[in-house]
Amino acid sequence: MDRFRAARPSPLRDGREPAKAPPWHALPVAKVLETLGTSEDGLPPEEAAERLRRFGPNVLPAPPGRSILAIVLGQLRSPLIHLLLAAALISLWLRQFDDAGFIVLVLAINTAIGAIQEWRAEANTAALRSAIHTASRVMRGGTVERIDAAGLVPGDFVLLEAGERVPADLRLLKSADLQTNETTLTGESLPVDKAALETLAPETPLADRLTMLFAGTTVQRGRAEGVVVGTGRGTEIGRIAQTLEEPSSAPPLTRRLERFTRILGTVSLLLVAGIVMLELLRGDDLQETFFVAVALAVSIIPEGLPVAVTVALSVATRNMARRNVIVRHLPAVEGLGACTVIATDKTGTLTVNQLTAKCVWLPGSGAVEVGGEGLSVEGGFTRGGLPLHEEHHPSLRSLGISSALCNDANFDPAAGGDGGASGDTVDLAFLVLAAKAALDVARLRRDHPRVAEIPFAAERKLAASLNRHERAHHLHVKGAAEVVVPLCHGQDNAAALTAAESMAARGYRVLAVATKRVEGDASGEWLLRDEDLGGLTLLGLVGFIDPLRPEAKEAVARCRGAGIAVKMITGDHPATALAIARELGIAESPREVATGRGLADLSGEPERIAALVSAAAVFARVEPAQKMQIVDALQASGHVVAMTGDGVNDAPALHRADLGVAMGLGGTDVARDASDLVLADDNFASIVAGVEEGRAAYANIRKVIYLLISTGAAEVVVFLLAVATGLPVPLTAIQLLWLNLVTNGGQDVALAFERREPGLLDRPPRSPAEAIFDRLMIRQVALSGIYTGAVAYLFFAWLIGRGMGEFEARNLLLFLMVAFENVHVFNCRSEHRSAFRIPLRDNWPLLVAVAGAQAVHIGAAFLPGLRDVLAIRPISVEMWLLLVPIAGSVLLVMEADKRLRGRRA
Ligand code: ADP
Ligand code: MG
Repeated sequence: MDRFRAARPSPLRDGREPAKAPPWHALPVAKVLETLGTSEDGLPPEEAAERLRRFGPNVLPAPPGRSILAIVLGQLRSPLIHLLLAAALISLWLRQFDDAGFIVLVLAINTAIGAIQEWRAEANTAALRSAIHTASRVMRGGTVERIDAAGLVPGDFVLLEAGERVPADLRLLKSADLQTNETTLTGESLPVDKAALETLAPETPLADRLTMLFAGTTVQRGRAEGVVVGTGRGTEIGRIAQTLEEPSSAPPLTRRLERFTRILGTVSLLLVAGIVMLELLRGDDLQETFFVAVALAVSIIPEGLPVAVTVALSVATRNMARRNVIVRHLPAVEGLGACTVIATDKTGTLTVNQLTAKCVWLPGSGAVEVGGEGLSVEGGFTRGGLPLHEEHHPSLRSLGISSALCNDANFDPAAGGDGGASGDTVDLAFLVLAAKAALDVARLRRDHPRVAEIPFAAERKLAASLNRHERAHHLHVKGAAEVVVPLCHGQDNAAALTAAESMAARGYRVLAVATKRVEGDASGEWLLRDEDLGGLTLLGLVGFIDPLRPEAKEAVARCRGAGIAVKMITGDHPATALAIARELGIAESPREVATGRGLADLSGEPERIAALVSAAAVFARVEPAQKMQIVDALQASGHVVAMTGDGVNDAPALHRADLGVAMGLGGTDVARDASDLVLADDNFASIVAGVEEGRAAYANIRKVIYLLISTGAAEVVVFLLAVATGLPVPLTAIQLLWLNLVTNGGQDVALAFERREPGLLDRPPRSPAEAIFDRLMIRQVALSGIYTGAVAYLFFAWLIGRGMGEFEARNLLLFLMVAFENVHVFNCRSEHRSAFRIPLRDNWPLLVAVAGAQAVHIGAAFLPGLRDVLAIRPISVEMWLLLVPIAGSVLLVMEADKRLRGRRA
């Protein structure tokens, strides 16, 4: 048997042998199943495993990551490096081999530090990205399971619904109201209708093959069942070898910093030109003057900045992932820190999305309480605390039957545990209710198969199912009360709407259930349309409670403290929404509630919409498409908007928002693809944690900039003062390079690891337009730069004045400068807090960097060869006793300034 199978060429497409695939779209369904050796029960698990070995996993080749070589070469691209390389070549030409060798060595060390940091940051981002998987529902051996899409094989039977990404190329077997988006494949962004027709003409072009679903496209609407005909590279998208990753753009912050560095470069050139002029006027050696010019340029230009920023952002993404926020686009890290308003879904994000039916209203007989909690089927029906009278049971049962047939969830109360619960939470809650009414749902569904349906969509707010009953068909409908009740005939409508209103005011989500008998040929094809929904008989209302997430209330309060407005968006009823918003502290009065209708009425009047949106804290009965309007209005009034979403129709708003936040557990693939951030736990509190981390990242970047610019400034000040007062050049070019690229080389990056400071969420968000070089930054840079430079100059002048030789004096000055930088980095750990209040253990990379700088420098003083190039020698204990207090003084000066500022604030 096995040999027979091996001898026959496989008709299945295989990545390694792209054979001529059969025209799947043109084959009748039975033929497709036969060719693939599968059935409507799906493949047996063993066969699936065997095929997985044969065809390989269903993955596309990963987008090529940057190789180590590319990262290293990337380091060499900065103009500064070119300057140094030119200097090295000139040294060679002047036969100064020591200098040339030294420059190359320094460059190598610096490039290595940069490349390692950047490579680690990149590996980190890649690891996070691969943490997001697509899961698929697949039928194997007659049971439906959820598996990682990578495990799909040809012949697998896949079930899809709106919002899901098509995991492989599929031939449709069944479809309902199906539309897909094939932009990734055809570039056409309009949705495409699909249908499980029997056959199509073989020559139908790809874009018109409506019996096929293609990997990488997404289901926009409806439901589908299909059989896998191609996986991995054997799919259409795999064949055009297109990767689905979009390249992430450089964060705006990085771009702003690059511009800033360029300005600094120009300024430094002018300064350096000035110093060189002075030196030349004094008749200094031309060659040495040239090198000093190069070295000064190196001091001023913060070449460590891009790497440090990358590292800071990467550290932040890791911290965010720990707090359940997965960053898809790096700029979002920076954006989160500046976020001024969070527009969040209610259901599932502020609430736990576990509905329990708490009360039922029956036409003619009124309210009934329902006992029990969650998925437990314990709990009965009572009225005024007494068991419900028998005569009401039939009405409860009819309501239960309709809501169980117009239902896509699965739940088996007999199975114990969670009863294998799967599906929409509203549907599940209805099944639990049906079980409490002693209905056998499995049997009901078997006896009354579905012949047509209108799947639930947030725009419609209802779902309908047409099922076969004895001689006729019955249409079962459930949905939002004020949508379904008006579709019913009968005298109870007014009473029902009043009852619904009062249930909603108590925070219940209220759904109505209705039904009608439909005459017609039982054998024909059925197509349900919205127009078919009139003339229903109301069976009752059900009120559900969806408990708040325990952390939500506190998280809302923290947002308030951090100057971030929280707006709740929901498809639910205004009264339900307000009741929940009150509990959370989001809104108090009905005046803060806007409705989707209200927004629609103002269309074409952007100013009034903006006013409405700014004033409202709750948006109820909002359709997903209106989220876009809300984002636009908020942005127009200057907000940086974080918007959450989970459905297909949320994607445009997620895209438009400054920060699109998708749900990792409950959300759809489409929403995730459109978002910048994914919440691994769907929890609102995680967004707040993300904001805190985003602010921390921005603060750390400021710390790095402060350090780099102020140390450069100090060196320039020493030079200016020395040259202006006719002293010899205080440091040689080589020494300057050493100072900037080696001893200070690791410190700046270490600041990127600084732990977030307390109180980040106690101040308002920074303005998105705020310059990095604000007054605080200028003040700190100027004070520390001038102080350090002046003290270093006085020290040098004093040594020379005492008749010390230039060599000796420079040696001591260099030791002092290294010590200054090592001390000053502790000033940079916080812009506001005292350095003595920040625990040392909070940043061990910093301790390593400081100890490393000292070790390398002292070591170099002993190392023959290197010490001669650097012109340094070990210094005496007495000298150390002098240098340490001088270097330490910069700590006291900056501490005093912090104290002064703190007192004034
Ligand atoms: P939310 O934004 O709070 O998640 P939805 O847009 O999902 O709200 O739902 C809007 C309304 O549609 C609900 O208030 C409810 O009345 C109705 N609804 C929700 N889920 C279903 C469902 N599975 N079947 C029928 N109606 C539903
Ligand atoms: Mg919902």
